[in-house]
Amino acid sequence: MSNSASPRRKRTGKFQAEVSQVLRLVINSLYSNKEIFLRELLSNASDALEKLRFRGLTESGLMGDDERLEVRLITDLEARTLTIHDTGIGMSKDELVEQLGTIAHSGTKAFLERLDAAGDESQKAELIGQFGVGFYSAFLVADRVEVVSRAAGTEESWMWSSAADETWTVTPLKETTDRGTSVVLHLKEGMDSYLNDWTLRQLVKNYSEFVPFPIMMKPTVGEADDEPTWERVNDAEAIWRRSKSEIDDDEYQGFFKHLDPMAGEAMSWTHFQVEGSQQFTGLIYLPKQAPQGMQFVQHNSRVRLYVKRVFIMDEVDALVPTWLRFVSGVIESEDLPLNVSRELLQDSAIVRSIKGQIEKKVIDALAKQKSNDLEAYTEFWSACGPVLKEGIHHSWKHRERLAGLALFATTQGDELTDLDAYLERMGEDQDTIYYITGESAQALAASPHVEGLIAAGHEVLLLTDPIDEWVVDSLTEYKGKTLRNASSGELKLDEDAEALREEQNEAFAALQGRISQVLGDRIGSVRISDRLTDSAVCLVVPEGSVNARMERLLKTHGQEVPAAKRIFEINPSHPTITNLQSLASRDEAPESLGDWVELLYDQALLTEGSAIQDPAAFAHRMSRLLQKATAAELN
Ligand code: ADP
Repeated sequence: MSNSASPRRKRTGKFQAEVSQVLRLVINSLYSNKEIFLRELLSNASDALEKLRFRGLTESGLMGDDERLEVRLITDLEARTLTIHDTGIGMSKDELVEQLGTIAHSGTKAFLERLDAAGDESQKAELIGQFGVGFYSAFLVADRVEVVSRAAGTEESWMWSSAADETWTVTPLKETTDRGTSVVLHLKEGMDSYLNDWTLRQLVKNYSEFVPFPIMMKPTVGEADDEPTWERVNDAEAIWRRSKSEIDDDEYQGFFKHLDPMAGEAMSWTHFQVEGSQQFTGLIYLPKQAPQGMQFVQHNSRVRLYVKRVFIMDEVDALVPTWLRFVSGVIESEDLPLNVSRELLQDSAIVRSIKGQIEKKVIDALAKQKSNDLEAYTEFWSACGPVLKEGIHHSWKHRERLAGLALFATTQGDELTDLDAYLERMGEDQDTIYYITGESAQALAASPHVEGLIAAGHEVLLLTDPIDEWVVDSLTEYKGKTLRNASSGELKLDEDAEALREEQNEAFAALQGRISQVLGDRIGSVRISDRLTDSAVCLVVPEGSVNARMERLLKTHGQEVPAAKRIFEINPSHPTITNLQSLASRDEAPESLGDWVELLYDQALLTEGSAIQDPAAFAHRMSRLLQKATAAELN
């Protein structure tokens, strides 16, 4: 690289290796999506204007006597150039060098690695789209790009230029240009449509309608004598400030796309104005699909904050609770100070109040959607439900309403159900909502733990999201009915069973003693089951201790939990159990009794979703017993 001793000298440099790589990739992967260049360059222009407006608040004189904040699209048919000019913050010589050639943006390396791992071209193109290709997309349509810029508050203009080969140059200009930046695209062969007035207007409409600054165009000079005047081609007023009755669904969807081009369609939105002690306007969207990166709690919120028409920041976590991190939108406050900082936001009473309102509005919108269009809501739920459910755990205030919004798989039919429908279906005398947690709804519905409940006519909710463990931990009751895990403690389904239980305990004393002896400290105790109908045995967690699912979840997170000793329950009406009892009560119980007990224990482990502790021993035992059983068949 050349020296910078004389700041007014031309400088030639090479693109940093990663930058070159990204540049090549963008050009090669997005050839069928060329038109996105305009969106990207207009978005850069808009950012530059936001920055100037923001810094202008505190640095007087930065604006100079040119108060215009706008973008101009200028075509030159003869030179075959399209220029995107903005009156924004501009770039100094050093910034041109760094921003447009040298610095690989922080995400670049990670991006390249992920791109390497991506499969086919379409996947790559999608990935590139998600990362935001920015300035380099200019080379999709131009074989030479010149960036003429004057940083706000300075008098020097510089021109950066490159033909997308390995190098770029930065040259001082003799004449000072307007404040801000002009990106001059020397269009490639065959790209003349981007000189066309109508095409450009159409692209602005499609991609950049909601850029919050005027995008101006001058109709191409025709036969007429009068010089055409600049006219605005995007919408005049920010959508969230307009009145609801004037905005149609297409416009709302358009703004959603503007906020996140990759997000698809919005399911619905809530557009509101709050008056009173704090005044603010909000437009918040609920997505149809899970937005990119939603699963990560650290992911910043997608809500942009404006104060008195000035864009302050996006990624304002303070405004939206983590359990609503799938929403996107805009909040504009009239009361926050313009120089509000991230730190200040964290502990501002105004922000807390806004946050409370947002929570309420979003929950209202969800409830409305759920009752108006359950099908769409169910689709939304399968995408974002696991995140929304975190709110049941975290938000004491909204717990019951959020629980009411949750959908669960159930033993009653294939459709998901909500808690209210469960309450409606359950018998008058039932005061408990039964659930069971595990990895697969199908396996849970068939597990021994629920067979007694189903036989007694009870519905059981089948909870399969990892987060459900925390949900039921916090949600101990819903509308006065207790939530009860079907796989722990005693169910006490039948009040009159106490007396019978004593009899049964006596009748099966020999077998229970034998089981305790064989299984030793692998189990906590043995007891007669009140939940089994078809299966011989099952393992139950004592009420209030960590269940099997939670134990597995914690283990996968590297957390060893002291395993709660299971209670081994036996079904007194099962033939296997009565047979074993007869064997156990003989004066000399057969040796094989130990094998049977071990087998039943392993079977119980499998049905609760846990692994068998000694698979080899299990296989040996199984094989011995099969041999015996087949021999018995022959007799
Ligand atoms: P990104 O916008 O994602 O940071 P880009 O490649 O689009 O990446 O732009 C790189 C940087 O160049 C920007 O962060 C900004 O600092 C600068 N830049 C680009 N266009 C402009 C512009 N019109 N005015 C001022 N600075 C700009």
